[in-house]
Amino acid sequence: MAEKLVMATSAVEAAGLKNSESAFLAGGTEDNRLNSSVDAANLISIGRIPELDGISKDGECIRIGAMSTFQEILDNKLVPEYLKDACRFMGSRTKRNMATIGGNIALRRTDSYLYPTLLASHAMLDLMDAKGNVSKKCVCCYLKDYEELKDNLIVAVSVPKEAKVASKRYANTVQSHAVLTVSAGIADGKLRVGVAAKDTALKGLCDVATALQEKDLSDADILKLIEADKDLCFKQDIFGSPEYKRYLLAVTIADLARKVKGGAK
Ligand SMILES: Cc1cc2nc3c(=O)[nH]c(=O)nc-3n(C[C@H](O)[C@H](O)[C@H](O)COP(=O)(O)OP(=O)(O)OC[C@H]3O[C@@H](n4cnc5c(N)ncnc54)[C@H](O)[C@@H]3O)c2cc1C
Repeated sequence: MAEKLVMATSAVEAAGLKNSESAFLAGGTEDNRLNSSVDAANLISIGRIPELDGISKDGECIRIGAMSTFQEILDNKLVPEYLKDACRFMGSRTKRNMATIGGNIALRRTDSYLYPTLLASHAMLDLMDAKGNVSKKCVCCYLKDYEELKDNLIVAVSVPKEAKVASKRYANTVQSHAVLTVSAGIADGKLRVGVAAKDTALKGLCDVATALQEKDLSDADILKLIEADKDLCFKQDIFGSPEYKRYLLAVTIADLARKVKGGAK
């Protein structure tokens, strides 16, 4: 339970205050919930920082301020439809009105609504460190370098306007946790695949994407690549066996890759 709340008035102030004892307070859907995964003595409210708001065109991309809620993203005409599809995976209207894109990215959940799409579209993050320096990193690098970047403030997310992305989420109901969320996308001529596999992995599947870019692979070929990926160490649980999950992932990737490559509707 947090003991102190600071209302930051600028991004520099918020980023400067962040350390291992504190957490940013964005929509508060995770920070303030019962049994929250966030354990912080101090909260830094980032809700009154104009730099973190707004959605605008930025060259070939759409720049989305980190404090944009899922509902604001859904309501905005500039946002590409593929990102809206991912936002709709959050079924609860109440949560959509509160939860922010920055908070969702920072949480790195293995049942993430957004990561597969952000990985497949090669989304970029503007990150601010404690000294106020801003760097651009792709979401894949953010995941890889998280230990080094965990106290950075996510200022904005940029997604390409013209990317082609298809996504699929497997859950018992829209309100249930997803066992698997998968996206395939083509941005800047490159095919990418992102996966969120509950309690297993959150990553871009580079080997699968490169192989798929070069040629059409059968479901069995994709399955072999998935079996070879040491991070995709699925466990038996209420969602099914490891074999079933690997199979589901392989056929889903094949289907989504066909869609973005133009071979199927
Ligand atoms: C019942 C329930 C079910 C959920 N199910 C899912 C699910 O299936 N899939 C899924 O993806 N999510 C799920 N969520 C998570 C929900 O989507 C997140 O709580 C939300 O997106 C986080 O956003 P927030 O703005 O509320 O973050 P907050 O609760 O305010 O913050 C959460 C964390 O993010 C960090 N943070 C926030 N903003 C920034 C920033 N700009 N820069 C750096 N760090 C930041 C904070 O330090 C904190 O550690 C669920 C939440 C609840 C309550």
